[in-house]
Amino acid sequence: MADLHHECGIVAVYHLPQRGVSRLAPRQDPNLSAWHVPRLLLEIQNRGQLAAGMTAYDPRRSELIHTHKEVGIVTEVFRLNRKADHEALMESLQGVAAIGHVRYATCGDDDRHHAQPFERPHIEKSKWFSFGFNGQLANFEELRAEILARQDFHLSRNNDTEILMHLLAQQFSGDRRPSLETVLERLCARLDGAYNIVFLNAAGDMFVARDPLGIRPLCYAVDGPMFAAASESVALANMGFAPAQIRNLPPGHAILIRRGELEVHQFARSARHAHCFFEWIYFANVASTLDERSVYLTRKRLGEELARQEQLAIDAETIVVPVPDTAKAAADAMAYTLGVPVLEGLIRNRYLGRTFIEGGNRREDRVRMKYTPLPDVLRGKRVLLVEDTIVRSTTMQALISQLKDPERGGAREVHVRVACPPIVAPCFYGIDMSTVGELFAPRYVRDGVLTPESEAQMARALGADSLRYLSLEAIARSVDMPANALCQACLNGDYPTPAGERLYQLALAEARQSTNGPARRTYEAPLAVADCR
Ligand code: SF4
Repeated sequence: MADLHHECGIVAVYHLPQRGVSRLAPRQDPNLSAWHVPRLLLEIQNRGQLAAGMTAYDPRRSELIHTHKEVGIVTEVFRLNRKADHEALMESLQGVAAIGHVRYATCGDDDRHHAQPFERPHIEKSKWFSFGFNGQLANFEELRAEILARQDFHLSRNNDTEILMHLLAQQFSGDRRPSLETVLERLCARLDGAYNIVFLNAAGDMFVARDPLGIRPLCYAVDGPMFAAASESVALANMGFAPAQIRNLPPGHAILIRRGELEVHQFARSARHAHCFFEWIYFANVASTLDERSVYLTRKRLGEELARQEQLAIDAETIVVPVPDTAKAAADAMAYTLGVPVLEGLIRNRYLGRTFIEGGNRREDRVRMKYTPLPDVLRGKRVLLVEDTIVRSTTMQALISQLKDPERGGAREVHVRVACPPIVAPCFYGIDMSTVGELFAPRYVRDGVLTPESEAQMARALGADSLRYLSLEAIARSVDMPANALCQACLNGDYPTPAGERLYQLALAEARQSTNGPARRTYEAPLAVADCR
């Protein structure tokens, strides 16, 4: 509900040779293994709805690796609603191996050229490659400036994927034929931020790598000859792998597949991990398990934490209403613990997607199209409205106004309960909130201290009767992970990488200079180039 977006999801599949035919091979044909990719992407569509694509490797084809990508959701890109068109498309995407990508942009434009995978043709097989990238390079501007400082070098797209393509291509330039291990070690030395990568070349070599901090999730599974990897476990479970076969790729590790052999290789060490807590709270599919922690159970524990800190006197007219859909598990658990009914007083239009409807430009109109309050459920009630997070507040404001509207909702009181602490700092690791000015909480939370007075001010600004956030400590408890194994930078300003820390200082300076908040993202500010050098 927070209208936050992710910087993508990735998948990979490989039918390894000389191990027989996998039970998971489509039509029992290893050469059709690439056909799993649209389905895998569909399972992680929550991570990006702007564009999708895949690259398939087939040594029987003259075009050894072939890429198809388009702007649109997975169903549109792979013609999944038109059987004949889909089958015709997939004929050109046969292969024993493939990689795939779904995109939401935190930087770069919306056209097809920014869709991934990015393919770089070459006459030499090991230098002809394609890759997909999930995350965000916090030192994007620094790397960009370094590349453009070289005479005759040019970058045509304003995004970090092009930078990554350039850095990869550099590894293979001239007579160099570095091992995949060396490529990863050199890349790692240059990159700062969140980066999960799937890579496939025309020699049939693949790597699937996770950054040393493990900021974004990445899972893999092996069943006999079938290997697959995905940003989230739910994709692998629904492809047919048994739960015990699905593992998390440890941070700083990569799966390497060369000459048909698979190995797990550690390419970097890190003193700490920094898994994005937001994955469990909001982004990931509730059916996923990330780094051995269930998303659903985490959200359930958040709801129990909310119940424990509840001070409102509960009466017969009190009900719990979740903001659909990501807050549902927390709301159910809170209501159960308090012994209060949980009712769906808000219904979400599941078919809206990325549509442009006449008259839907104002925030109130968009909220009206997206959520329908049910007056039969809400009228005269004291509503404990459970939300997963509040980022920019505009949607929440419009929602509360509708819940209280005598015609549309009729709720007597609306008490907002947020299953997360206040978001006080931007994200530079792949979530679409990169400036201080766009955030709601920093206007009220001074010096990082949340007080009852600041919560009361925020409630008034939203039009709510009261507002309660969870404490910072509740997050690590609910995820069931030590706090120093998580990234919680947007909650506490403690960034796990040097470039993240530098960008935060820039974001604070920009926010101080601007009365309305900066219009551009922090890593697009010219100042960032100078400061990041
Ligand atoms: S800053 Fe926040 S949203 Fe970004 S990676 Fe860290 S915890 Fe996740």
